[in-house]
Amino acid sequence: MNNLKYSIIPKPQRYDTVDATFIVTPDTQVLCVADFVDAGKYLTDYLKTKTDASNGSIKFNKDSSIPSEGYTLKIDENGVVIAASDANGAFYGAVTLKIMLMQSKTADGKAVLNGADIYDYPRFSYRGGMLDDSRHFFGVELVKKMLDNMALVKLNKFHWHLSDDQGYRIESDVYPLLNEIGSKRKFEHLEAKNLPLSMICKNEGGEYFYYYTKDEIRDIVAYAKKLHIDVIPEIDIPGHTSCMIAAYPELVCNSVGCEVVSESGIMKNVLCPGKDSTYEFVENLLSEVIELFPYEYFHIGGDEAGLGHKIWEKDCPDCKKLMQEKGVKTGNELQSVFMNRITDFLKSKGKTPIAWSDGITDITNEGIACHYWTLKNPLWVKKESKKRKFILSPSTHFYFDMNFGYLPLKKTYNFNEAKLGISDINTVMGVEFETWSEWITDKDTLEFSVFPRIFALAEVAWTKDKYKNYKDFYKRLDFFKLYMKSQNINFSRVEKKKLGVKNVTCYHLGVKGNEYKYNEKLKKTEK
Ligand SMILES: [Zn+2]
Repeated sequence: MNNLKYSIIPKPQRYDTVDATFIVTPDTQVLCVADFVDAGKYLTDYLKTKTDASNGSIKFNKDSSIPSEGYTLKIDENGVVIAASDANGAFYGAVTLKIMLMQSKTADGKAVLNGADIYDYPRFSYRGGMLDDSRHFFGVELVKKMLDNMALVKLNKFHWHLSDDQGYRIESDVYPLLNEIGSKRKFEHLEAKNLPLSMICKNEGGEYFYYYTKDEIRDIVAYAKKLHIDVIPEIDIPGHTSCMIAAYPELVCNSVGCEVVSESGIMKNVLCPGKDSTYEFVENLLSEVIELFPYEYFHIGGDEAGLGHKIWEKDCPDCKKLMQEKGVKTGNELQSVFMNRITDFLKSKGKTPIAWSDGITDITNEGIACHYWTLKNPLWVKKESKKRKFILSPSTHFYFDMNFGYLPLKKTYNFNEAKLGISDINTVMGVEFETWSEWITDKDTLEFSVFPRIFALAEVAWTKDKYKNYKDFYKRLDFFKLYMKSQNINFSRVEKKKLGVKNVTCYHLGVKGNEYKYNEKLKKTEK
């Protein structure tokens, strides 16, 4: 492999230079086979911005010998030829070419491409990013901007966390109180309950009332489709459900209900798995949500329901009765009974469920994919990864709401799944970054958390380990820093622990924490 003349992230698997150049102008023809029109459009939308004329062409061809989502890209004096076996591959060829064009602009509006011969395909089929729209709400335009940048680094799964204790964010016709009551809370900014942050993070701002209309969601799903990104909704159950219980108190064991919370942390408001009416509610609700998301995977959460488990075990006659019937002894196992019944329902709708790792027990249906986040005993991982598929989002590497002192850029880049206990790489669907938004409150704090770490995650997801090198990655990142500036992305200039910046916890913290403030200072010293 010769030296890359272009800075491409994620790094292609194989790359050679060719001793030739080809000049691209707005009049360069883009010729696509019918299946690859999306890829051609992605490129022509970009080329429109240029002004000169010339000859030659960019061709998209089909070649069934190329691996799924892979592509070849050849540039010589006659033009550019991109080949792929599927539409995703053709699209990623277009993405790579777009990045090369961005680096090949000349003063007269043309782009002079250097000859190249690239053979590329992804390491993982699941390359994801998650946005928590419940704790704070970001809206259509910001989501689309996030999707644009995910596509630019070849990520293909947008995990959308749309329901949590702090708000339900999907328009509901079936259960309208989920919006009237469940999408609304008293304060914009959350109090850090049960964390040493409560001195810093207090309720601020007035009533906070947001949800996406179904038309807005359809618009986002269609927008993502053009970028070859699947949208996977998450309706977190049976815990993290204060928004549902506030609207429909009969869902909780004692039917006493609660408020939509304006705090962070783990709540005791958990759905009652002992009542048939709970299943009726969940199945009606999921049916309504499924209509909006035409993809295989559906995330059902399942995390941090432990306070509810205690109520199920001790205080709820319905739950105690069901435990006896099913022969289970703990609330944890009862949760598996609940999740398994929901899984049967989702499977009848053609969906594959995903659940967080702490919600999975020995009796959890093996058809549920495990979303690994919290540190687990490697022996547990080894055992479970023989049974079911895994998505890896360990908080130690891929929780982008953590500060850079705790989670430096290099640590994300150097992630190695073998250390978690995974015995067979084939059980790993892929990796995903998370942006929990308790302390991510707006565009600037979101971008500060995600960028530039998204580039490191993308290379973990796409590039084989043997081709990865942090120093080389960091050099290639220079171009993307210019790109981020040109797009007005508020990326972090802090990339690791800095002397003099005191972080009270691992979170970015507060509405705008110390690291964020330090970053603002750094930006002012830039030219
Ligand atoms: Zn109960």
